[in-house]
Amino acid sequence: MMLAQSIRRTISHLSPPMCRPLSARIVDKVNIEVQPAQTGADAGAGGAVLTFPGVWLRDNCRCPACYHSSSQSRQLDWNHFDPGVHPLALHVDAAKEQLHVRWSDAHESSFELDWLRRRSFDGQSQSAYLNDFYRPRTSHWAGAQFEQIVQRFSYDQVMSEDEALQHWLKALAVYGVVLLNGAPLDEGVVRRLAERVGFIRRTTYGEEFIVQAKPGAKNYAYLSLPLPLHTDLPYYEYKPSVNLLHCVVQTQSRGGSNLLVDAYHIADRLRQEQPEHFERLSRTPVDWNDIGSEDGREFHNIWRAPVICLDADGNYTRINHSVPQRDSHFNVPLGQVLPWYESYARFVQLARGDAYSFKTQPGDVLTFNNLRLLHGRTGYDDTADNSRYIVGAYLDWDIIYSRLRVLKKRLSKASGTAAA
Ligand SMILES: [Zn+2]
Repeated sequence: MMLAQSIRRTISHLSPPMCRPLSARIVDKVNIEVQPAQTGADAGAGGAVLTFPGVWLRDNCRCPACYHSSSQSRQLDWNHFDPGVHPLALHVDAAKEQLHVRWSDAHESSFELDWLRRRSFDGQSQSAYLNDFYRPRTSHWAGAQFEQIVQRFSYDQVMSEDEALQHWLKALAVYGVVLLNGAPLDEGVVRRLAERVGFIRRTTYGEEFIVQAKPGAKNYAYLSLPLPLHTDLPYYEYKPSVNLLHCVVQTQSRGGSNLLVDAYHIADRLRQEQPEHFERLSRTPVDWNDIGSEDGREFHNIWRAPVICLDADGNYTRINHSVPQRDSHFNVPLGQVLPWYESYARFVQLARGDAYSFKTQPGDVLTFNNLRLLHGRTGYDDTADNSRYIVGAYLDWDIIYSRLRVLKKRLSKASGTAAA
């Protein structure tokens, strides 16, 4: 009995009194149950039993034939993978905290306890991983709560300190809006910020874009009129995720205020108070469009999607709203049209009533989630020596989340705590 011998050896050479050494057993022929070592003092969460499906362990064998370590990629031959593969025998090395498995396909694998623990199948560990490492859990807010939820970071610190960069991106993920202060007044700020995270997301309107009143503007935003609440580019399947709006010159006229609404909060309200409106807005596909030309290149963008987009679990994935950029084509059955208009009018009314108004100052960079927040602007008047001038750019969530995970691993390594 190799297992029993190994346990006896472990007991004899470990100094702290062990109530129970590391052990493992096969359960129901297909699963492997790992019982981490428990000392008298450590009978808590660290010592809880971990159960792993054998097929998953075999699929995740770390040996050089199954796993390419320099690319951190699986290289198991999946053309011949048998989902019926199961463990035949286990061996535990308590001193090295390793589990060795002999499989029904004649293969052998070894796993570190720490590696196993970080991939625990228990619900609490999985939701901690999903809400911390995968994507931070969002927190929704009403306009009246804006001053409590908005965080402000120094542009210089975000550019030079990883902790500040991490705090900015995390707050952006959780609340959907963050203000950066003290940026220089040159046109390169949004590019430098985007490149600090990853890279700029290019759109029909270029990489950086200037929001300034222009006579004969080809985009509705490039007027000094009030700009009603909207999300940018709803007519893209891959809608740019995050707006960076750098205020270089602010208007001295009364207007030019930013309006912001957390549309996830508006959707929450509809869901609770008027579920029939919520249902229609989350099920009725709307044609969003944008037609024009930029730098001599013609475009005709269309994307069909509901106002409130949900994933399979009912979580919000994206909000679409734009009065100018909603197509006159509306490809739904006749009977759905009027009810949809009633629901959409309610959504717009709730959003307008909730909008928080504030005015950025030169050197501020307003950063917000374009999949979630509605933004707008009050009208303003330019004068000969005061012309409102905002430079914008977009970042995508894939790039931001990736940066956040890399930062989390790097910073937790530096502080000696575990990241996934
Ligand atoms: Zn292997």
